[in-house]
Amino acid sequence: MTQDSTIKAQMRQLIQILAKHNHAYYVMDQPTIEDSEYDQLFHQLKALEQQYPECIQADTPTNKVGGQALPKFDSITHVVPMLSLGNVFNQEDLFAFARRIEERLPNQKIQYDVELKFDGLAISLWYENGILVRGVTRGDGETGEDITQNVKTIRNLPKVLSSDLVKIPTLLEVRGEVLMPKAGFEKLNAENEAKGEKTFANPRNAAAGSLRQLDPAVAASRPLAFYAYGIAQCEPNHGLTSMSESLQWLTNFGFAVGERHFVCDSIQEVQEKYEQINAERPNLSVEIDGMVVKVDDLKQQQQLGFLSREPRWATAYKFPAVAALTTVENIDWQVGRTGTLTPVARLNPVAVGGVTVSNVTLHNIGEIHRLDVRVGDTVSVYRSGDVGVTMNSSVSSRTQLDFQMAV
Ligand code: NAD
Repeated sequence: MTQDSTIKAQMRQLIQILAKHNHAYYVMDQPTIEDSEYDQLFHQLKALEQQYPECIQADTPTNKVGGQALPKFDSITHVVPMLSLGNVFNQEDLFAFARRIEERLPNQKIQYDVELKFDGLAISLWYENGILVRGVTRGDGETGEDITQNVKTIRNLPKVLSSDLVKIPTLLEVRGEVLMPKAGFEKLNAENEAKGEKTFANPRNAAAGSLRQLDPAVAASRPLAFYAYGIAQCEPNHGLTSMSESLQWLTNFGFAVGERHFVCDSIQEVQEKYEQINAERPNLSVEIDGMVVKVDDLKQQQQLGFLSREPRWATAYKFPAVAALTTVENIDWQVGRTGTLTPVARLNPVAVGGVTVSNVTLHNIGEIHRLDVRVGDTVSVYRSGDVGVTMNSSVSSRTQLDFQMAV
């Protein structure tokens, strides 16, 4: 095999794995791996593509938005495409994001709008003369699903716009996220469990699964909420000049926006807000998977423009991974103080939940057989509680295994 064909084969394998997970996540609303593991696979593919651009395959998911419109709904083409976001996972990447912006906007003062990154389902809402006429999912970014009837059942979402302060636009397209707030999610799962019905793995699946049902009575019975984060179109033009002003303006009509929101004068301040939001995360009413950093000035946003699947002027700053994929480098036997022998998997070091994990105990030979874990295997390492990690021996099967982290 030539080097090119090896790289292409690696890319093909990643593309196939990602396609399978995209289907489970976007079409079935039932992911089978953690988001952080998905992100890791995605970044592996992106890194290969950056290093070997000549090997990039036509169907790569790195330049398109992941969803897909289900045929059971009417399809609607978005007038303004609904894109995804690039992402950063640490301060270094965040600062690199800011440097790229500064290079494109030399000698300009740049302020950053910092918002919660809601972990739900992106939708677009059309209001004509103040009346909600359409609700559409993001789909593949170009075409989404018409879920107007379901969207109308969301209680905190204005169906008719009214304001004493602001004139109602003839056309307003609002973008935002449908979520199931934590309290509602826990109540729904407790009720379902009591009735012996299916429970949801997380609020994101619960929200997406509730909204993408043909029968609007299902969505109406679920505790869904909508949070606005942007304006795609407004006629006549609203005359606003910044992202933060736009969010404030939307609240005039009764739209809910995130419970934390900041405008920062420097990227260092953005980093401070990240630490603050990460610390406050357990106390928030909704599930978030990070924060979104946007250039605040709308004119600067326009100057920066877009890449194929994301804007240049924004990025998601995600929280540390709770699960990550790595490979088993070796399996050693460790002698304890009492002389007991314990097998330990030596891993290619990987960051999980703020710690770097390089060893996990395999407990005993029975566990090794049960897992069928071997040197060279790809394994999934989870943070479980404060001290342990859980390890999974295969990316495709998902038997949950409890492994204590070796010291
Ligand atoms: P994303 O969720 O990383 O970011 C883009 C989305 O963020 C936007 O579409 C928008 O809906 C949302 N968002 C939330 N708050 C926002 C705010 N304040 N302002 C603007 N946008 C905001 O990207 P994506 O393309 O929607 O999904 C990709 C992600 O989905 C992956 O990074 C992965 O974490 C997850 N995923 C997981 C699996 C899996 O199997 N576990 C599969 C596919 C995708």
